[in-house]
Amino acid sequence: MSEIITIANQKGGVGKTTTAVNLAASLAVEEKKVLLIDLDPQANATTGYGFKRSDYEFNIYHVLTGKKTLNDIILKTNLDNLDLAPSNILLTGFEQEIGNNNIKQILSKALKDVALRYDFIIIDSPPSLGNITINALVASTDVIIPMQCEFYALEGLAMIFNTIKTIKKSMNPRLKIRGILPTMYSSQNNLSKETVADLQQHFNEKLFKKNGEIILIPRNIKLAECPGFGKPIVLYDIKSPGCIAYQNLAQSLIGL
Ligand code: ATP
Ligand code: MG
Repeated sequence: MSEIITIANQKGGVGKTTTAVNLAASLAVEEKKVLLIDLDPQANATTGYGFKRSDYEFNIYHVLTGKKTLNDIILKTNLDNLDLAPSNILLTGFEQEIGNNNIKQILSKALKDVALRYDFIIIDSPPSLGNITINALVASTDVIIPMQCEFYALEGLAMIFNTIKTIKKSMNPRLKIRGILPTMYSSQNNLSKETVADLQQHFNEKLFKKNGEIILIPRNIKLAECPGFGKPIVLYDIKSPGCIAYQNLAQSLIGL
């Protein structure tokens, strides 16, 4: 069965899309079959793979509104083992729709058709805990919470923990927090070190580790540059510290 992992944090700009794009690519490099679902109306993961609006007619909005199936919208990327379900600004409309519980299970149902083809399904979510992120969490087996190493970073955690707890209880008992991922870590910055020390004190078992060392995503300009070239970091600068960190994360998920 495939592992379905949502990358979620209601805070904006913490590295969700960077993590979704580069974790998906790193898993594909490890020869896993991966589907990346862009579930954010900002469509940053879609453009991060070099797709323009004119490259595809239908997107995840059409799936969530029942007009298309996931199979209809999936695109091949420039990496062999990686497919992408693109997004579009149209998806904003879905975030505002009000409905009964059924509206929260649309993605979960849509995934049944394709899940068997993939080892990993990685879902990029928007910076909110509305209908879209709830659909992602209801459909997932796991959540990874990227956390920017900065002041107040831990404060938003209670809110997402509560959302996850509620969904686990009411709609998706298999959902678990796979880990918290410190992002944009800078070893010269005391705040970065303090944030990680805080995380270690309160959530040590939720930090990803490789050979006993906590996996930290460093602040690395290469990670910020590569979406401009429509490439994940593995196709842009394989020796960069950002690339190595995401490869370590992928390997820790696979158990290497
Ligand atoms: P949103 O909430 O708007 O969806 P997000 O949580 O998806 O944002 P990203 O888009 O991944 O966050 O990152 C925010 C900005 O920080 C982007 O410009 C991105 O290129 C940059 N960035 C993310 N991670 C890193 C990093 N490790 N090093 C340097 N820049 C980074
Ligand atoms: Mg994003």
